[in-house]
Amino acid sequence: MTGKHPHHPGHPHTGGDGGGKTIKGTYKDLKDAPEGHQHAHKYMMNKGDQLRLVFWETTAGCNLECIHCRRLDVSRELMKDDLTFDESCKMIDALTEAGKPILVLSGGEPLFRPDIFDIAKYAVGKGLTVALATNGTLVDEVMAKKIVDSGVQRVSVSLDGLNEIHDEFRKQKGSFDLALKGIKNLQALGMSTQINSTIAKHNVHQVKELYKFAVDQGVDALHIFMLVPVGCGVQIAEDQMLDPKVYEEVLEWFYEISKEGKIQTKATCAPHYFRIMRQKAKEEGIKITPKTHGMAAMTKGCLAGQSICFISHKGQVFPCGYLPVEAGNIHKERFKDIWENSETFKRLRNQDELKGKCGICEYKKVCEGCRARAFYEKGDYMEEEPYCIYEPVKISQKS
Ligand code: SF4
Ligand code: SF4
Repeated sequence: MTGKHPHHPGHPHTGGDGGGKTIKGTYKDLKDAPEGHQHAHKYMMNKGDQLRLVFWETTAGCNLECIHCRRLDVSRELMKDDLTFDESCKMIDALTEAGKPILVLSGGEPLFRPDIFDIAKYAVGKGLTVALATNGTLVDEVMAKKIVDSGVQRVSVSLDGLNEIHDEFRKQKGSFDLALKGIKNLQALGMSTQINSTIAKHNVHQVKELYKFAVDQGVDALHIFMLVPVGCGVQIAEDQMLDPKVYEEVLEWFYEISKEGKIQTKATCAPHYFRIMRQKAKEEGIKITPKTHGMAAMTKGCLAGQSICFISHKGQVFPCGYLPVEAGNIHKERFKDIWENSETFKRLRNQDELKGKCGICEYKKVCEGCRARAFYEKGDYMEEEPYCIYEPVKISQKS
């Protein structure tokens, strides 16, 4: 797989659900509905495999060379095999045949592309909700204005720690200050902003401070992301992957702060968060509804190939940006056919194929484990999630 780190864009809380209605609209309806929890559950299960989010690596070029980059071959220039403007428009047309997803413009660094705003406008004109995932360092006042004018609805900026911790990870001194300035420039124009943060050993001690920082800076959302060993992440996995127990503790803490409701919070690509959420809610004797648990009540753990996918800068389609199993290529096939008929996607959508403890886990419907981490450890993306400490009831009853 190629493509620079997509700034783990997370899932912006805006956009289409494939049926013409926006996710935001669906959430609003369900929040106050008397049977909101039942409808939220149905929506979460996504029986019709609606395409809800597409992460597109607009270019493999980037101005940074981050330590945990999803790519191995970082380019300081636009790449020859990046989709051209015309190819990008065709791809957007093809997406609309399959649904009305949120389109997340990622990279590399999407702002590296001179035509990125024309692309965003084109997608907005086609009725898609467009979000931008950037490292934030190029967002000066002029750039912020262009982003706003292009119709982008939310910008996520990656901050992997505070100050020098972030700079070390990004391998560029001053990148934290630049990214923060970028957020401020966007906020000054009324843009919805989100901080994405990859949590690993180097910054786990800062996670609480980071949350406070996000609240203080007035961003709309904080999405935390647990490192997935892909690209440069493979090289640093041994050093940087959190111990599964620490991982669990971080997610438990994240559940607690999410109840404060100060900003939107989401544990992205941390599927067992959704198991923890249910365990805690049970202990607390509360039902999970959009009213009590916000958008988290409407989504589940791993969404790869079920409601999201990733399109590389060359047009390859993957279940997500971290699972390097190609499902098809938009240069060769209709996107709709790939989405509906790819064997990889069909397998990911069949929970009966889950193996190991994920296969017998009572939480598999809401969690499923990270298929990319399973692939990294076992070479089979339907194997069990290696970073979950939970023992399913079927195992504990046996012993
Ligand atoms: S496989 Fe699922 S949980 Fe893992 S990185 Fe991809 S979308 Fe996230
Ligand atoms: S065993 Fe698998 S399905 Fe169950 S909670 Fe852990 S990761 Fe999720």
